[in-house]
Amino acid sequence: MTQKDCLFCKIAQGAFNTEFIIETEDYVSFKDISPQAPVHALVIPKIHFDSLNRMQEPELMGKLLEGARQTAQKLGIEDNYRLVINTGEKAGQTVFHIHIHVLGGRAMQWPPG
Ligand code: 5GP
Ligand code: ZN
Repeated sequence: MTQKDCLFCKIAQGAFNTEFIIETEDYVSFKDISPQAPVHALVIPKIHFDSLNRMQEPELMGKLLEGARQTAQKLGIEDNYRLVINTGEKAGQTVFHIHIHVLGGRAMQWPPG
């Protein structure tokens, strides 16, 4: 369920006393350590999946998406925000525990880089 040596498994278990924006039995959200926008949070499930491709659990995926929406609301960016799921190294994934980025607080460019 959790993977030894996975940073985000440890964060979800509270190993670093990370301040959670939202915590449920299924997921947590917290601020990104290296924000790419004035508001930048991550939503992660408590159980480990390497990426979206490894997560064939639509019900949990729906809960994460709802968690992202509620996180945006709690952080006051509910009118304008972007959700990102980087999947694979070339797409920018650096932490291999699935996470949804919640970004806002500035105008966003399209297409993304
Ligand atoms: P990825 O590049 O995999 O889509 O996103 C990983 C994100 O995790 C990056 O935005 C990075 O800044 C963030 N991150 C990496 N290590 C930590 C950490 O220890 N704490 C927090 N809060 N965020 C982290
Ligand atoms: Zn993990």
